Amino acid sequence: MADDKERGWLPDFLYRDGRFDSGIALFADDSGRITRFSETEADLANAQRLYNRALLPGLVNGHSHTFQRVIRARTEYRTTAVKDTFWTWRESMYHAALRLSPEDIYIAARMAFLEMALAGITAVGEFHYLHHAADRTPYEDRNFLAKQILRAADEVGIRVALLRTAYVRAGWRKEPEPGQARFITPRPQDFIDDTDTLDAFVRKTSPTGRAWIGVAPHSIRAVPLDYLLEVTGYARARGFPIHMHVAEQPAEVEACLGEYGARPVAFLDQNGILSSSFTAVHAIHINEDEITRLARHQVTVCACPTTERNLGDGILAADALEAAGIPISLGSDSNVQIDSLEDARQLEYNLRLSKRERAILSPTPERESLAGRLFKTATETGAASIGAEGGKLEVGRPADFFTVDLNDVAIAGADRESLLSHIVFALQRTAVRGVFVNGEPVIEEGHHTHEEQITQEFAKLQRRLWSKLPS
Ligand SMILES: [Zn+2]
Repeated sequence: MADDKERGWLPDFLYRDGRFDSGIALFADDSGRITRFSETEADLANAQRLYNRALLPGLVNGHSHTFQRVIRARTEYRTTAVKDTFWTWRESMYHAALRLSPEDIYIAARMAFLEMALAGITAVGEFHYLHHAADRTPYEDRNFLAKQILRAADEVGIRVALLRTAYVRAGWRKEPEPGQARFITPRPQDFIDDTDTLDAFVRKTSPTGRAWIGVAPHSIRAVPLDYLLEVTGYARARGFPIHMHVAEQPAEVEACLGEYGARPVAFLDQNGILSSSFTAVHAIHINEDEITRLARHQVTVCACPTTERNLGDGILAADALEAAGIPISLGSDSNVQIDSLEDARQLEYNLRLSKRERAILSPTPERESLAGRLFKTATETGAASIGAEGGKLEVGRPADFFTVDLNDVAIAGADRESLLSHIVFALQRTAVRGVFVNGEPVIEEGHHTHEEQITQEFAKLQRRLWSKLPS
């Protein structure tokens, strides 16, 4: 029998253990944790009936830079006579990074987090590298900008792993770039002290696991080996998740070979940096040997297919990673689109286009479906990668979930067996009706309480940033 403080939900279909069931209610206590699943008549009568709804574990966005939301769709043209690439896009991104005030960074983050929540995302790993003022001077509170991100996530209501990013230099044999002024912390001890200070702040202000800290050396090109060893050693000792951009572009592989005589993953392995708490973001340009090394250390690879296709990064060998047993998570990265299910389907679709085959990531023998495997990348693996407790509907885990409208035109007509496949391959964000974090509603009937205000303030920021007229 449900006690007074227990809440329950009864959808038409509930997704757990890799399948949808009907006639099961989910219950959570007042701390927001799942206490039980029940099929008894009395319990079903006590639960809130969610008509025409399927209920699924909240999506987890493993990799985001929220400030890049301001350049969405603003870079879709050619800037050079030769060819545009990741590196020319980066110029626009640096330009934006220099122009944003702390309040602007907060407004952009709040907008991105709102869109994530509306897409069914309940937790995000924010790879945060804006630390200082545009002239490189640290703020009086050296974590002032990180706190803008935390404030934005708190106001929207989604969980955030603040992956505090170390950035030291432009790259091997590269002159400093003025566009990176806000990222750079020259001394590792300062980075560690700042991270410790932020960690203490987060533990004091977010006791319920709404926010926590991770460490993210930006990339091999941006962090030299001695610094890298120091900050990863610190992160391991503190039990923080470690995230790093790895082999997004061929030029990074070349630079690593030039500086260290080894390819990126081999270099990280040789220096004892890989572990099960390490997530390699992108890992596109890697070879067989590097896949073996990632598998040996149970490293997670965070794929960001919508950004990777936008930037022309390349196609992740998700089939080879799956075959090696490497967990894959997903990230919205540049936030050119925010749709974890689109990322999940692109993981498969990109392979189809390059191999001219279908159902490439489909497991054999069929213990789990292709949709089930892709859905796992958008939930369970992402949660493990950023250190979130959700990702799965299970007793003891937080009640982080989203509901979809079964009558939505994109999935109408799905039956129980094909429902997850409909959701993974065809669902649009507009079919997401409710989003709950810790058993509390963040999105209700497809909307957030502060949606209008958040959107308008962001639109105002964009007008100011992009208007040709003085504002
Ligand atoms: Zn990134």
